[in-house]
Amino acid sequence: MKKIVIIGGGLGGLYSALKLSETSKYDITILDSSAQFGGSYGSYTYEDGALFDYGIHVIYEAMNEDVDKTLRDIIPTSEWNFLVGNKKDIAGTYYKGKLQEYSHYIDIRSQESQIHQKAIGSFFNNIENEKIEATNVYEYLTNRFGKYITDTIHEDVLQKLYSDNGKNLHLMVSKIVPLERVILYSEEFVKDLMGSSYIRNKIAYPDQLNFDESLKSKQRGLYPKQFGMQGYVNRIVDLLKKRGVKLISSVQIENINKSEDKINSIEYIHDDRTDTIDNISHLHWAIPEESVARFFDFNISEKDKPKHLYYIHLYTNQKPKMGKLYYFYILDKGFSSFRISSYYNYCTDAKTNDGLYPICMEMHFDKEQDKKSLFIQAKKELLSLNVVDKDDNIVYINTPSKSSVFPVPTLKNTKITKDADNHIQSLGIKNMTYTGVCPEKELFFLHDILLENFNQIKDLL
Ligand SMILES: Cc1cc2nc3c(=O)[nH]c(=O)nc-3n(C[C@H](O)[C@H](O)[C@H](O)COP(=O)(O)OP(=O)(O)OC[C@H]3O[C@@H](n4cnc5c(N)ncnc54)[C@H](O)[C@@H]3O)c2cc1C
Repeated sequence: MKKIVIIGGGLGGLYSALKLSETSKYDITILDSSAQFGGSYGSYTYEDGALFDYGIHVIYEAMNEDVDKTLRDIIPTSEWNFLVGNKKDIAGTYYKGKLQEYSHYIDIRSQESQIHQKAIGSFFNNIENEKIEATNVYEYLTNRFGKYITDTIHEDVLQKLYSDNGKNLHLMVSKIVPLERVILYSEEFVKDLMGSSYIRNKIAYPDQLNFDESLKSKQRGLYPKQFGMQGYVNRIVDLLKKRGVKLISSVQIENINKSEDKINSIEYIHDDRTDTIDNISHLHWAIPEESVARFFDFNISEKDKPKHLYYIHLYTNQKPKMGKLYYFYILDKGFSSFRISSYYNYCTDAKTNDGLYPICMEMHFDKEQDKKSLFIQAKKELLSLNVVDKDDNIVYINTPSKSSVFPVPTLKNTKITKDADNHIQSLGIKNMTYTGVCPEKELFFLHDILLENFNQIKDLL
């Protein structure tokens, strides 16, 4: 049997293994540096048994039946919550001191009326500009909305989220946090305008639950009825093991041995000893490409520093005051949290037997934080954001022992990724594919990553 090695056991790598193991053509091994599989899609169980996901974990369909069926069939249809139509993604934004439950796009009507009026003028004055190719997010937003809206509204938001200005940031950042549309008009007024795809593409409808569903994509969100994404990931792992796939966690890749245009073998450390997989027929990397390039003598120059990302897990004894929102972004300055998710709103099973509501705050900081100050800050922000009425409503707070990294897609960092990609391409290796989060290629969201994994491995099927 031909040997395939997959490096990276996030959902991207696991999906690739599922697809490749559908036939018994291959002897497949997945190697992952973490202790558990699933990558960013997983849950954390604390010593006292409290279970939380890392941030929001809905799986959005890739709109490719090959990909979607593979992941859907892991559990029976009756065990999925399907989030469809206007309930696919109920998201909000905290902006100008108010929680917008009706839309996650910036509502320019929250500004003083003079700014709102100028913004409307700027938007319509700018229609001619849209064909200019953007090289950074400032240009991208200016092309879409005009200089006035970008300077007055977006620059503040970019500073809050990325501590940088738009001219230094890749245009992908406008997709990661929804800056691609703005709210300018009331529902009554904008209804007619929605007939124009040009307008619909830039101006948001101000009531997400009341939007004409026929104008929306048919993409669905999927989340298991049973709370905890790790349960789902474990089912993938069990199925792969049943198909004979070897899954090895907590490994450190030591060496990739190649001759000319072919990978031959891999050495990795696991359980304090070095193991080798030789006679490799194909190597598929499901990790960011700049990490791949490191194994092929690519020297990474000094990068703009990422932020320290913390997942803060809380139980509240009061239903979080965020309406039907699955999550909301925090765009106002003065908050370290950038997103708050209420699991109960898309998975009723998330509420504990004691009637507690689990929520997750995603916070980032320029410097590392100790637990005590992190918890003080999180509670303070939760109260300021009015998600709970009083301190006593927060009955549990915890954070995974290891903090994560919030990548900042500055132009400098994305150029390094591009150089890494060019470097790997220049090696001309025939039996190797790779894909993972890469803002430069507009690969960030899981459904795009899954689709790219499919495209990379499809010649092997
Ligand atoms: C803060 C944040 C919020 C996000 N929010 C959303 C969202 O709301 N919706 C959405 O669709 N996407 C979101 N994403 C993106 C989403 O996390 C990715 O699309 C998805 O995780 C990509 O899957 P993956 O398998 O490629 O990578 P990952 O999930 O990152 O998995 C990579 C795996 O590779 C392993 N690995 C890494 N390096 C090595 C190595 N050298 N050797 C061996 N193993 C290695 C890791 O341990 C990990 O298990 C978010 C990302 C971040 C950072």
